[in-house]
Amino acid sequence: MTIRIGIVGYGNLGRGVETAIAAQPDLALAGIFTRRDPATLATLGNAPVFALDDIDAHANDIDVLVLCGGSASDLPVQSPDLAKRFSLVDSYDNHAKIPAHFAAVDAAASAGGTTAVISTGWDPGLFSLNRLYGEAILPQGETYTFWGRGLSQGHSDAVRRVPGVAGAVQYTLPAEDAIARVRAGEQPELSTRDKHTRECYVVLAPGADAEAVREAIVTMPNYFEPYDTTVNFITAEELARDHAGMPHGGFVIRSGESSAGVSQTIEYQLTLESNPEFTSSVLVAYARAAARLEAKGDHGAKTPFDIAPGLLSPKSAEALRAELL
Ligand code: NDP
Repeated sequence: MTIRIGIVGYGNLGRGVETAIAAQPDLALAGIFTRRDPATLATLGNAPVFALDDIDAHANDIDVLVLCGGSASDLPVQSPDLAKRFSLVDSYDNHAKIPAHFAAVDAAASAGGTTAVISTGWDPGLFSLNRLYGEAILPQGETYTFWGRGLSQGHSDAVRRVPGVAGAVQYTLPAEDAIARVRAGEQPELSTRDKHTRECYVVLAPGADAEAVREAIVTMPNYFEPYDTTVNFITAEELARDHAGMPHGGFVIRSGESSAGVSQTIEYQLTLESNPEFTSSVLVAYARAAARLEAKGDHGAKTPFDIAPGLLSPKSAEALRAELL
């Protein structure tokens, strides 16, 4: 059975989802839905583009929506609204607010008889699963997550929404000495500030006050306040020339002991040339799971913790048992 996907929002992730669907044997792109004038959107392929306001007219052509809006202000509105009528997947990444987002989407999806997988991608997403595996398997120990050096889309998006910012990127840098201590099995106590720093490159809007913009960024709760953040002001030309790529990655390490003096380490690493293309590849695999759960009548909001791994694969359960176990 072909699963028909609608893309909501056509930015980095939207383009990535379009690319990722083409690589999957059982997924097809039903259309792209945008808040902008559809006629003005230049897409990678030749998929039809529609106004998001008209999405209900296409309900019979769509099995699952992949929401590609930003976590700062798009997804908190779009996910609960669309989950009333469509099964969907989103990549909501504001970790502190995930429980509230889950509750809002769950109420909508349960009432609408849809299945909505929230907060998938790689972090939250695959990294969350690896944190869970580590803690479940090695209850005595510590879990460490390091990111970067990489461009964080969620944090870049948050900076771009600060008044006075015309363009911006944000890099996350891991602290190499902290990583070395963790790998050596020291299980050090590391504060948020010890593990990473954040580096912003910002283009100011005409007339904007640089100091006010810097202050708004470094004091932003959840996103920047817990870190040492540097803000560098650059020109639009420098932003385009030096910061166009979107590499990222990182690792989750569980360092523990199965009994006194018996050390065990689990490490999961991602090295990503394109963060949005990889995140989008995760989202479409979860779209397959959402379609299967909806068909089974398993409705409401889900996170990656609630999805059986076999549901992500295009292969049948029988094939997976024969090939991968
Ligand atoms: P973008 O800023 O590229 O796109 C966000 C939305 O903005 C789009 O859906 C689009 O909506 C609109 N938009 C895009 N380009 C333009 C433009 N040129 N002019 C006007 N509007 C535009 O965000 P990303 O795709 O990079 O990231 C989206 C979210 O993905 C992030 O906020 C982050 O939360 C999440 N993410 C999650 C990860 C995870 O591991 N869980 C990893 C990476 C990202 P429309 O078409 O309706 O205008």
